[in-house]
Amino acid sequence: MAVTEEDLAHLRRCVELAREGLDEGDEPFGSLLVDGSGTVRFEDRNRVKDGDETRHPELEIARWSAYHLSAGERAAATVYTSGEHCPMCAAAHAWMGLGRVVYAVSSAQLTAWRAEWGLPAGPVLPLPIQEVAPGVPVDGPAPELEEEMRELHRRKAGV
Ligand SMILES: [Zn+2]
Repeated sequence: MAVTEEDLAHLRRCVELAREGLDEGDEPFGSLLVDGSGTVRFEDRNRVKDGDETRHPELEIARWSAYHLSAGERAAATVYTSGEHCPMCAAAHAWMGLGRVVYAVSSAQLTAWRAEWGLPAGPVLPLPIQEVAPGVPVDGPAPELEEEMRELHRRKAGV
């Protein structure tokens, strides 16, 4: 499945959440969950600035889904995210049996930007979601949002 106009609208909200995270001193990542009827049920952004480096929005979504959705609702849900899930979040997504993922920019894109800016590699391999969770349908990136996301990450990098 390609990234549709409806997908793009949800991804734009993820970019807004990423920008809010950056403006608040966190990292520029935002995500939301849409249920099978197309309703946004939960959204969050990165919240690592106080020291818990696992506070990624995709992990919060997986945890939220455990308490608020049935297994069938989880499978029918789509998770939108400004940046592709890291392996921790991809694993949580798969363990919870959540459905499709749509991301604006890939981990490979982010990794290439960081290298270009002279930043060190992160502590976790930037594996594609499907190497961690092969059963999850994944779509992305969305070239329409690449420049905006690159700029948010560039601001965070301070370069
Ligand atoms: Zn993550």
